[in-house]
Amino acid sequence: MPKRIFFMIVTEQMIEITKTTNSRLTELDFDNLRFGREFSDHMFEMDYTDGKWQTPRIVPFANLSLNPAVSVIHYGQSIFEGMKANKNKDGEVYLFRPEKNVARFNVSAERMCMPEVDEDLLKQAIVELVKLDENWIPERDGSSLYIRPFMFATDEYIGIQPSSTYKLLIFTCPVNAYYAGAVRVKIEEKYTRSVEGGTGYAKAAGNYAAALYPAKLAQEEGYHQLIWTDAKEHKWIEESGTMNVIFRTGNDIISPKPSDTILDGVTRESVLQLASDWGYNVEHRRFSVDELRQLLEANKIDEAFGAGTAATIAPISTIGYSDHDFDLTEFGSWDFGPKVLAHIENLKRGLCDDPHNWRFRVC
Ligand SMILES: *Cc1c(COP(=O)(O)O)cnc(C)c1O
Repeated sequence: MPKRIFFMIVTEQMIEITKTTNSRLTELDFDNLRFGREFSDHMFEMDYTDGKWQTPRIVPFANLSLNPAVSVIHYGQSIFEGMKANKNKDGEVYLFRPEKNVARFNVSAERMCMPEVDEDLLKQAIVELVKLDENWIPERDGSSLYIRPFMFATDEYIGIQPSSTYKLLIFTCPVNAYYAGAVRVKIEEKYTRSVEGGTGYAKAAGNYAAALYPAKLAQEEGYHQLIWTDAKEHKWIEESGTMNVIFRTGNDIISPKPSDTILDGVTRESVLQLASDWGYNVEHRRFSVDELRQLLEANKIDEAFGAGTAATIAPISTIGYSDHDFDLTEFGSWDFGPKVLAHIENLKRGLCDDPHNWRFRVC
């Protein structure tokens, strides 16, 4: 009998790798990581010219040199993603649902009139970069390697039109557990983050620039962050701007559904899936400010938190709405938030079962 021969189709694209000869790792103080200010040795880089993506490469992390007319600076065609790699005590490294981030990158790209990227290549780029700088991943509890893929327009031209050239980069930052304590949030009734038909569902740089001023005003009033409401009536709860929001009242877990104006967060979706696995009644629906206020007045909001990659869960201690502050009970006494936070942190580190196949083993 002839032996069967299997041909493996190799779809992986070759990434050119130039390693640093001058690692900065020994200078890193893992005990005092400054969030978002420490950058690992390497970065991924790929240029879009002549109507296609050119050779993907990993190079030593370095400054860029740009022409002052480069169109991203003037007109803001720029998008990004944010995700994390985690390492456990056995040295295993995992990503959490990376295919969600690479798919969302293309959703953002389309809205900002930028070229799409092959999702397998983008995922492979993230994996290779994380592998190469594996030693930059902090191991202590709650720490991780933050991964920042981004793309921007590079035409050297100050006419307004979609750029014909782009640069896609990925760098990584070792970060400690992100927990700055429970947050005081204010329900925004005047300014708007995002509007139907706008760019709110994209991780487009300009969305964050436009949110800074209203957030600063709220900070001057003693709040940490805003809860945005819809642009037309300021009547419906949307999200917190870098986090989705989730509320628990008894056995019901309510979270405004992602839409044109609400970014579809990976953390939110994962938290709600777990809630439903655990028998909570999960409601993905419109949630009015009025309904929230009535529940707060009746002391029926048992938990409220932001959900996003940076903090996973950011408990809310106070909700300010039209000159009244509603205080919630302490995070430590909550039923759901602390449990889901611990569970997701364990999942991300390969420390518990993963029935939904959410984690991806890098090495
Ligand atoms: C990134 C982001 C989130 C959270 O998304 P995750 O995928 O959970 O990190 C929520 N809202 C906005 C506007 C965001 O940019």
